[in-house]
Amino acid sequence: MLISLSEIMSVKGKVLHITVPIEMEYFKLDGAEYSFAKKNPIDLKISCEGERMISLECSTEISLMLPCSRCLEEVETKFDIHVSKNLDFHETEKDRIEELDETNYVIGYDLDTELLLYNEILIQFPLKVLCSEDCKGICFVCGTNLNKENCQCDKAVGDPRMSAFQDVFKNFKEV
Ligand SMILES: [Zn+2]
Ligand SMILES: [Zn+2]
Repeated sequence: MLISLSEIMSVKGKVLHITVPIEMEYFKLDGAEYSFAKKNPIDLKISCEGERMISLECSTEISLMLPCSRCLEEVETKFDIHVSKNLDFHETEKDRIEELDETNYVIGYDLDTELLLYNEILIQFPLKVLCSEDCKGICFVCGTNLNKENCQCDKAVGDPRMSAFQDVFKNFKEV
């Protein structure tokens, strides 16, 4: 949602405290779409600290369903969002963008809460998600989730690294 800052920044001491719904249906990253398991509205507090000076506080708690890096089962992953920023509208827009970690969630005098949220999720986005520390993953031969059942596959044969070795041995024999 776009929140106009132009009115509030003209009156020192003015405070706007609102809750803003999250509009995005999915968190999209690298062509993937992750659904929300929890999407609390954003608690947003905008205060005018002086003429054209704004302080911004934003918090919410969301969770996304992210696939386990080993077995691909979806795992509810929490994100605690807390942003606290000071914006000085005496600066040029270019300076301000650089201060905002190069993310332009303030466009002109409008705050884009969706962009702000997207940026924060991105910063916290985990490199690796595990359904549990001892997740056994999936069998790379038959695709069985090894947390749920066992399979009879000969994993040594199916391991692509091993088969590369076997090919090498085969070639030696032929020579
Ligand atoms: Zn797992
Ligand atoms: Zn298997």
